[in-house]
Amino acid sequence: MGLGRGYEGQDCSLARSLELIGERWTLLVVRDAFFGVRRFRDFVAHLDVPRAVLASRLHDLVQAGVLQKQPCGQGSAREEYVLTAMGRELWPAVYALSQWGERYLTTGGRRRVFRHAECGTGLDAAGNCPHCGRWIAVDEIEVLPGPGLNLQGRTDAVSLELRLPHRLLTPLQTRPELEQPEAE
Ligand SMILES: [Zn+2]
Repeated sequence: MGLGRGYEGQDCSLARSLELIGERWTLLVVRDAFFGVRRFRDFVAHLDVPRAVLASRLHDLVQAGVLQKQPCGQGSAREEYVLTAMGRELWPAVYALSQWGERYLTTGGRRRVFRHAECGTGLDAAGNCPHCGRWIAVDEIEVLPGPGLNLQGRTDAVSLELRLPHRLLTPLQTRPELEQPEAE
């Protein structure tokens, strides 16, 4: 923990959580991981985050056990970042914060809609499927663009890919023609 990041005087588990995920960019990295972003260059493309900052956040998340590094494919030298079981347990927090922001801090409608993949019903603010009458786990959720999403906004390959309805945690299929050499 660097200077100014900790809440040493706070004997509180919320303070411990914030020391990790309260760092600028960190929760957006986690959100993107839920959306299926796995590669360093895809996080950069989608977040416009300075590479050094991203590298530091990914390092911290791996150290904390929220993400794990694995090869991109069999025999691949490239690595990707995937949520661990511990990391996936952040979903209710990510979902609740985005719902709260939508309700109180943004205007213009939902940017994204989350629905129960099996029955197609939109989730309520607590993450329940009104049709099935139960809370829906992250790997059963589909995300799609909402009416408030600015389609003239971001045009990077990852944003375009994320506009297609897809199940959470499913790896992004960035199109080959958009592949760029990586320099990490
Ligand atoms: Zn349902």
